[in-house]
Amino acid sequence: MSDFPLWIAIVIGILAAIVAAMLARDAVQLRRLIRWARMPIGTPVPDAAGRWGDAFAALHKRARVAAEQRGQLHEALERFRQATQAMPDGVVILGSQLAIEWANDQAEQLLGIDNSRDAGAPVINIVREPQFVAYLQGGDYAAPRLLRSVRTSGQSLQVRAVPFGQGRLMLLVRDVTQLERLETMRRDFVANVSHELKTPLTVVSGFVDTLVDGWEDLSTDEAKHMLTLAGEQAARMRHLIEDLLTLSALETDAPPQEEPVSMAAVLADVREEATVLSAGRHEIVLIDRGPPGLLGNPRELRSAFGNLASNAVRYTPAGGRIELLWQREGSGDAVFAVTDTGIGVEPQHIARLTERFYRVDRGRSRETGGTGLGLAIVKHVLERHGGRLHIESRPGEGSRFAAHLPARRVMAALG
Ligand code: ADP
Repeated sequence: MSDFPLWIAIVIGILAAIVAAMLARDAVQLRRLIRWARMPIGTPVPDAAGRWGDAFAALHKRARVAAEQRGQLHEALERFRQATQAMPDGVVILGSQLAIEWANDQAEQLLGIDNSRDAGAPVINIVREPQFVAYLQGGDYAAPRLLRSVRTSGQSLQVRAVPFGQGRLMLLVRDVTQLERLETMRRDFVANVSHELKTPLTVVSGFVDTLVDGWEDLSTDEAKHMLTLAGEQAARMRHLIEDLLTLSALETDAPPQEEPVSMAAVLADVREEATVLSAGRHEIVLIDRGPPGLLGNPRELRSAFGNLASNAVRYTPAGGRIELLWQREGSGDAVFAVTDTGIGVEPQHIARLTERFYRVDRGRSRETGGTGLGLAIVKHVLERHGGRLHIESRPGEGSRFAAHLPARRVMAALG
């Protein structure tokens, strides 16, 4: 012991105490660090002095940068969601195995997906329509696919899968029901026009063939009779083409320049036309107690009112009565109403009468020179003038076709 001086023992004791104190302090700070690391992300880094202070400060800086990056990422994601949400089309983000990651509102509605319920589920488990499943599983996404009646009967959806990232797909869904309907209408229209022209053309070429092949054997009267019938068919085709051109102009032209229309002149023309067509078979009465003028297009109004009057003549058997009435309603609107005692229309047809080529009795319409376009023209003319057609009818008793024109078009006096 004499070799080991007391002062050395004291120094060692002091050093041991200092080291123990340092270790204890480090243990405390380490515990604080571990506790912090277990706290939720974003919890402030603990404070300390000295080396631990430097370490905590460095950690604090990293945590702040990470928080900022997270914030920016969150904002970018939010912006992406908002942009996708604002799109008129449905958008579904699919991960591996076609699992739904996210769908915008439109996609939820069009495909029946519910983000909160279906996230993570394969989309083909939610939308089980075979064509949809085949498209997604087929892997050929070069062209979009048209799907009919997926959720709602009669609805058509156009679906397109766009691959992106690693094995991910963005599914774009668009409601094309209206477009499909227009395309069907266009096809029907072309088919109808072709059919309407084909029938008279077949008759005319039949007569021409007969005349060419057998003109030596035909009497003058026979030949004349055939030429008369061929002429009637040619007139029918001309009438059809005129109506088609009128309708096409009404559909495509800008609204016509408005001008004051003298109703007395229009009504007189319409009555005259109906009288000629009737050839004395009907009693035709004109009651004019409406305003003298109307702001609109005289040619279009005359054509619309003329169509209503000629229909009344064509669909009223001989001996019937036809009343043409022009008057102002209590609401201020002006009305041109044609009432007949004719064959009338069954209620189920009424809503469709203004469709192009819609006829209750095709044969009767043709016999009387109809094209099936008259009421479509009337409807368009009235729409262009802000008006509407009102139809009331009883089969076997008669009909009332009333063209309503808005009060703002009425002219109490013609300048
Ligand atoms: P159409 O050239 O066949 O007369 P329209 O478009 O003018 O074509 O009329 C469509 C159909 O509406 C007619 O085919 C006919 O069945 C019915 N219709 C129109 N006006 C009358 C009427 N006054 N009385 C009975 N039926 C009518």
